[in-house]
Amino acid sequence: MLYIHIPFCKQACSYCNFHFSTSMKTRDAVIDGICKELEMRRPELPAGSVPSVYFGGGTPSLLTEVELGRIFQVLYDNEYLTPPTSGSPNEPTNQQTNELTLEANPDDLDEATIQTLAASPINRLSIGIQSFYEEDLRFMNRAHNATEARSAIKKVNRAGFDDVSIDLIYGGQTTTDDMWAENLRIATDLGVTHISAYALTVEPKTALGVNVAKGKVSNTDDVKFDRHFNKLVDHLTSHGYRHYEVSNFCLPGHESRHNSGYWSGQVYLGIGPGAHGFDGQRTRKWNVSNNAAYAKAWAEINTPEDFAAADGFLYDAESLTDNDRYNEYIMTGLRRDVGVSVSELERLFGAEKVRYFTDSQRGNVAANLFLDTSDGVYRLSRAGIMRADGVGGDGFWV
Ligand code: SF4
Repeated sequence: MLYIHIPFCKQACSYCNFHFSTSMKTRDAVIDGICKELEMRRPELPAGSVPSVYFGGGTPSLLTEVELGRIFQVLYDNEYLTPPTSGSPNEPTNQQTNELTLEANPDDLDEATIQTLAASPINRLSIGIQSFYEEDLRFMNRAHNATEARSAIKKVNRAGFDDVSIDLIYGGQTTTDDMWAENLRIATDLGVTHISAYALTVEPKTALGVNVAKGKVSNTDDVKFDRHFNKLVDHLTSHGYRHYEVSNFCLPGHESRHNSGYWSGQVYLGIGPGAHGFDGQRTRKWNVSNNAAYAKAWAEINTPEDFAAADGFLYDAESLTDNDRYNEYIMTGLRRDVGVSVSELERLFGAEKVRYFTDSQRGNVAANLFLDTSDGVYRLSRAGIMRADGVGGDGFWV
């Protein structure tokens, strides 16, 4: 799997703590770096076509046709993907076995951009809707308005994208219960195939975090989060969506293969400033979250030896211990509807960890935070899902 981070945004959303810059000064140099990094790091993934490519950000829908075509050409030249027979980089590959997702913001989705994307190999869009209400969008300092939020989905459907995911945010200070219910109704009426819904988190180093700390804006409210989450699950499951991960819902057959790969420990390569990767075994690697530093470093890298010498300033790495891997397995298993299977846990980590896990969860089983565990699989109940991080933490080996 391949993740490509496009670290530019038109404006800063008030709650965002992803890596991005609103300055375009380094844009060309960063794209150069991304192309070089894709070439240099190809051996870190198994040979053959990758199962998925995910353009995340930042805002990948800011990429021009030329920039997108250039990146796809590098993907073909380095055999991440099989090129189209016509030889043109910006053409659908018709390889439906590859999931090729691009994150897009509604304000970028004018007809010309949609046509560029429809004519490209991208076969799945993830649209940052967040809300269909003006009050919410202004509060979050989103670059789009409510009209653009509603029209974006119809426009991309008309252009032939049937695999469309949207992001929604619940529990924010401006989002009433009625507004949240209406956001969900609009989303399901529009027939999107996948929905990722997140509680509005107040991160300290964001504009929202600063305003909350200064008392200019009230803090978020856990009781409201619970109400909105319950409404989310009730509405989407009653409309045929599978709740396959705490924050993710899909119509049958439309789960995100890329994200499911993250949660099941697959190998992935993270390209671009701030991107993270995993070798599928023990090593996590991440790039510097600074566009200028990333661009400058890659301008000077021409050989694998140069890349190796950039360790520590261009990228960093950590090695997971057995306990780290076990803890991650517990957390990602419990967050998904597949749950944690005791026999699989034993196969991967041994009998001692199984005893530890089952002992640690006795209280949670008694508190009905799990569905029936008699088949040896621990799947969270609705009450458990609402406390997923705490339940997972109880099972951690510390
Ligand atoms: S568009 Fe996305 S990445 Fe950019 S500031 Fe907003 S939330 Fe963050």
